[in-house]
Amino acid sequence: PEPVLPVKNSPYNKHLERPNGDTSLLANATFVVLCRNSDLGDVLWSVQQMEDRFNKQFGYPWVFLNDEPFTEGFQERVSALTDATISFGTIPREHWVQPEWIDEDRAQEARRQMGMDRAHFIPYGAIFTASDRYRNMCRFNSGFFFRHDLLKPYKYYWRVEPGVRFFCDLDYDPFTFMEHNNKTYGFNIGIYEYKFTILTLWDTVKEFMRENPELIPEDNMMGFISDDAGETYNLCHFWSNFEIGDMDFWRGDAYTRFFDFLDKKGGFYYERWGDAPVHSIAASIFLRKEQTQFFSDIGYRHEPFQICPQGEDWTKRRCSCDPTVNIDKSMSCIPRWEGL
Ligand code: GDP
Ligand code: MN
Repeated sequence: PEPVLPVKNSPYNKHLERPNGDTSLLANATFVVLCRNSDLGDVLWSVQQMEDRFNKQFGYPWVFLNDEPFTEGFQERVSALTDATISFGTIPREHWVQPEWIDEDRAQEARRQMGMDRAHFIPYGAIFTASDRYRNMCRFNSGFFFRHDLLKPYKYYWRVEPGVRFFCDLDYDPFTFMEHNNKTYGFNIGIYEYKFTILTLWDTVKEFMRENPELIPEDNMMGFISDDAGETYNLCHFWSNFEIGDMDFWRGDAYTRFFDFLDKKGGFYYERWGDAPVHSIAASIFLRKEQTQFFSDIGYRHEPFQICPQGEDWTKRRCSCDPTVNIDKSMSCIPRWEGL
């Protein structure tokens, strides 16, 4: 059975009794934000909410990553919003740019087609997601962020994006919750992927599973991503703009081999494989349901979807979302996870 989420006076809140400045009861965890200098306004908005709703009581560090150096001005503004340790890193080039085994002509043609495919992409920003930068970003988030020097000291991370909303007070520590309950991956929204972005992803995953059966546990979460025992992908994925996870999972042997296998196939560039389906498929083939956590109490919005806690959860946590506005059940994959 799922453990009940902890509230005040729970073992996950022991840090509240700690003497000032003693961080020994915190988990080994950090926030991580990938962004550009031009995202400053949206970054400040996200950090301010996270600090006010949660982190000012806890003091977890922040790590900001960028493919270009952060400006002094960016660092000064963001630092002004938190008392916690904060660091700004540049991503090594070899973790970001298209690897040399990618055929640029073929990649360019794939971007061109996707940019033109208006029927499928206008609702979600056709031109932008067709870019090579977007593909670098997806590959970086899939296989590299947890290898950055600034993240190496940490085990748990909470991924935060510029311009998202955190609607509610958080009165417990989700990192120590993850630690004490042996959770590996936490999420709160799950949706369906655009098929045209991942045409050969599932065949590639099946090939990997055939070649590496010893890495795939029997009692995994295949039922979340496939309705026919692994024959086809149902396009479900956890929306990775929100993740609370254990980076040792991504750093481990199984995922490293999985990512390298996908990467060599080139689908990050020849199609538009996203970090959300890649992470979600990995979590589903390698993990048991008990190792994953649905953070239904963390009211959250990333355009164009949100989840808003209901009833007493809303009141107790002073949420600022309309509780009748929630991702439509027909668009959500979470019922599949709940039914596992
Ligand atoms: P979407 O959520 O799929 O629409 O993609 P986003 O535009 O939100 O990008 C996902 C994350 O990557 C966000 O945290 C962005 O700030 C970040 N990001 C996207 N593209 C770039 C880029 O070219 N450089 C940097 N440094 N960050 C990027
Ligand atoms: Mn986003």
